[in-house]
Amino acid sequence: MLKSIILCFAVFLIAQPLKSIASGDTVSGWGQYDENNVFAKILRKEIPATVVFESEHVLAFEDIQPIKPVHILVIPKGNYRSILDFSEKATDAEISALIRALGTIAKKMNIAQSGFSIMNNSGHNGGQTVPHLHFHLLGGEKVAWEQSLRHKQRDTDN
Ligand code: 5GP
Repeated sequence: MLKSIILCFAVFLIAQPLKSIASGDTVSGWGQYDENNVFAKILRKEIPATVVFESEHVLAFEDIQPIKPVHILVIPKGNYRSILDFSEKATDAEISALIRALGTIAKKMNIAQSGFSIMNNSGHNGGQTVPHLHFHLLGGEKVAWEQSLRHKQRDTDN
């Protein structure tokens, strides 16, 4: 009986984030911090994650649905919804720790030499789906999004 209850709870915990990913719902990058977002749960260790780096102010873990061979999410440990409140309210120590961590993790993941892309989505038009600031560190093969943007720009210029 106890085993079944634990199993149901585990399935529920895993299904929740998968459900939100599948729906692709975007969130506002502005407003009150939601303590129940998936990354807050990962920080509280209520949801498992494959952690690749941790420091006083930063946590980095593998994306659950990687779009590149290396796809790491780098987040501040503080409660920041997006780059808007992070840039406004974070301490200098938190900001420098996050920027320094990006370089450290790129080296640790062996993508420093081959190159990589760092992406941040903010709010609905940015395509943000989790309301806790995160940077996507993408590498291991060519990241083409920037190229597509330039093609789009050229098309609209003509
Ligand atoms: P966004 O669309 O907000 O820029 O990126 C959110 C990212 O979080 C997505 O790439 C998605 O795959 C990832 N993600 C969502 N839920 C979880 C989760 O529970 N665990 C992990 N490791 N990644 C998640």
